[in-house]
Amino acid sequence: MIDSHAHTDFKEFDDDREEVIKRFFEGGGEKIINVGCDLKSSVRSYELAKNNENIFASAGIHPHDADTVDKNSLRKIEELVQHYKVIAVGEIGLDYFRNLSPQEKQIEAFRLQLELADNHKMPLIIHCRDAYNDLIDILKSYQTNSWRGVIHCFGGSQKIAEEFLELGFYIGFTGTITYYKDKSKLGNEPEIYRVIKNMPLNKILIETDCPYLAPVPERGKRNEPLFVRYVAEKVAHIRNVDFKEIEKATSENAIRLFNLEK
Ligand SMILES: [Zn+2]
Repeated sequence: MIDSHAHTDFKEFDDDREEVIKRFFEGGGEKIINVGCDLKSSVRSYELAKNNENIFASAGIHPHDADTVDKNSLRKIEELVQHYKVIAVGEIGLDYFRNLSPQEKQIEAFRLQLELADNHKMPLIIHCRDAYNDLIDILKSYQTNSWRGVIHCFGGSQKIAEEFLELGFYIGFTGTITYYKDKSKLGNEPEIYRVIKNMPLNKILIETDCPYLAPVPERGKRNEPLFVRYVAEKVAHIRNVDFKEIEKATSENAIRLFNLEK
């Protein structure tokens, strides 16, 4: 199993980071991608990756902190992505749900980092909340078709998922997919089930986004990389296949997308 989106550098792990990481690797985990969301966490992710063979890092500035994106911070991100253990630019994107930075600033910061990623031929880790249409428009506005990456913590519709697949993106699922009942009172399946069922197996990634979004049965607690297993189990349940199949495919997908075997 690969946890393709973790924040084990966060303060929630200050007391037991080593044990949390050890638990994952002893429990069958293969690799962790520790994702940066501002300059400090990008540096911390890089430090973790440097000191652990099977941890990789990304560097980027989250839309919440879009107003910290300037020449200086971009230069630092650019320095980080040149290290071989830094394997993606992210998490970058748009968040109109919380709007912690003005939308125009989010768009500008997203574009600048997309261009940085393109210059260095780096995959993207994209955060997008309540902004799928704007984000797709921005991606499409570039003539180049070289974008690859993952739309992390996907919560959109089947139609939106198809748009991202057409643009060549992978889709990442977190513990939020375990929060649904199989059938609503009216007997309908949740939309996200349809998305997961229709997704090509070679485009699915699993992730924790820890310390947040702990999956059932750990919901409400601090999340950690080991719990990515519950996300894989839920995907297997929804697609009605063996857990092993999902485990194997999602690992291969992460290795392929982020070029982790180098
Ligand atoms: Zn995240």
